[in-house]
Amino acid sequence: MTTSCRCILIVEDDPPLRRFLRMGLKAQGFFVHEAETGQRGLIEAGNRKPDLILLDLGLPDLDGMDLIKVIRKWSKVPIIVLSARSHESQKVDALDAVADDYLTKPFSLNELVARIREALRHAVQGNAISTDAFFSCGRLRVDLERRIVTVDGQAVHLTPIQYRLLTVLVKNSGMVMTQRQLMRAVWGPSYTESVHYLRIYMSQLRQKLEIDPANPRLLLTESGVGYRLAGPDS
Ligand code: CA
Repeated sequence: MTTSCRCILIVEDDPPLRRFLRMGLKAQGFFVHEAETGQRGLIEAGNRKPDLILLDLGLPDLDGMDLIKVIRKWSKVPIIVLSARSHESQKVDALDAVADDYLTKPFSLNELVARIREALRHAVQGNAISTDAFFSCGRLRVDLERRIVTVDGQAVHLTPIQYRLLTVLVKNSGMVMTQRQLMRAVWGPSYTESVHYLRIYMSQLRQKLEIDPANPRLLLTESGVGYRLAGPDS
């Protein structure tokens, strides 16, 4: 994917961090627009129509959550939340609601660019008429049309719930999924408090798909948030 025409809006009130983001992203070939307040961010989001928004949750004038809700009324633009450690619970709420991914400060430019590329890739797929019927990452292959899962070419038998959990992760590969999002997608809206089930099924999937289930390479834990299936082979 070429990044030369990709426009990113940074909504962040901390000048040094904003400069770091601007310089780093420009060096990667992105166009960058900036806003230092939530109000300014809303105006820029409307005027510039960015391909992606980096949003600081701790803004001086507006609650980051409210900002996301307003933007979501008229746009599906991918939003990556930048949060301080003190905003952990707010971050999970943002992801549960509408944000696409997050980074906890401090983060590296490499991490940020990887997250941005995944979010842009995901946005493109989401807009496409049909999504890929095949997913492949390392030793794992998933054929969504024929419902066949293989590891190193060997078919793996999954129970219906294990398979449903895996397909939800495949469709969001590379992106973080909160526990609540996963439970809602697999078991339905009334089971969103039973984190216990999710842990059990995730552990079963790791037993079947990972070389070393205790040290997973595919089904990654996002501490305090949820899980992320590694992005597909490029
Ligand atoms: Ca801030």
